[in-house]
Amino acid sequence: MQKKHIDFIFQTLDKLYPNADTELKFSNDFQLVLAVVMSAQTTDKQVNKVTENLFKIIKTPQDVLNLWLEKLTKSISSINYYKNKAKHIFWLSKMLDENPWLLCPDLEELQKLPWVWIKTAKVVSYVLFGSKVIAADTHVHRVSNRLWLVNTKTPEKTSQTLEKIVPDKYKQIAHHTLILFGRYLCIARNPKCESCPFTQICEYKKSL
Ligand code: SF4
Repeated sequence: MQKKHIDFIFQTLDKLYPNADTELKFSNDFQLVLAVVMSAQTTDKQVNKVTENLFKIIKTPQDVLNLWLEKLTKSISSINYYKNKAKHIFWLSKMLDENPWLLCPDLEELQKLPWVWIKTAKVVSYVLFGSKVIAADTHVHRVSNRLWLVNTKTPEKTSQTLEKIVPDKYKQIAHHTLILFGRYLCIARNPKCESCPFTQICEYKKSL
């Protein structure tokens, strides 16, 4: 992978999305963990709709435990897999209430929490603690392949490869800018190539 190619991509993405950040709404670390857990197979917009009211009453793990599982399940019923997510949020809150130190930058510690797998752990560690990791969802996976940053079959492999090839100076922006680019420009079907700054280097566009 040419350094010039990587520099061009991330410098361009940085200009395109100078204030790139998570689109999930939260007001403390615990709420961010819950929002990320809820966002699996669900859009950030749907999660924000649910959390707009929920996070007025849930600010700590104890608040979740006080709410009861039935009420929590009902409150998040508009998102995918809400029954499972409610159960896991309940157990996650119980575990964090008893072991608050698990909410830390360490990926292994974070993964001890229910429903927190490697991708979720990386997002939490990156957003809350600025860790130099690059979580890959379907957007990051798709656009990284289209831009020829990686040549991978799975988001997990994309994440590992990006972490190896992307210099540390771009790791603070890589995850968020790639997501925004995939969400709004290089969308899965009908990417908006006419507005894209990468048409000259995009292998995918050339194959269309
Ligand atoms: S040219 Fe089109 S397919 Fe290629 S990166 Fe840009 S939007 Fe995506």
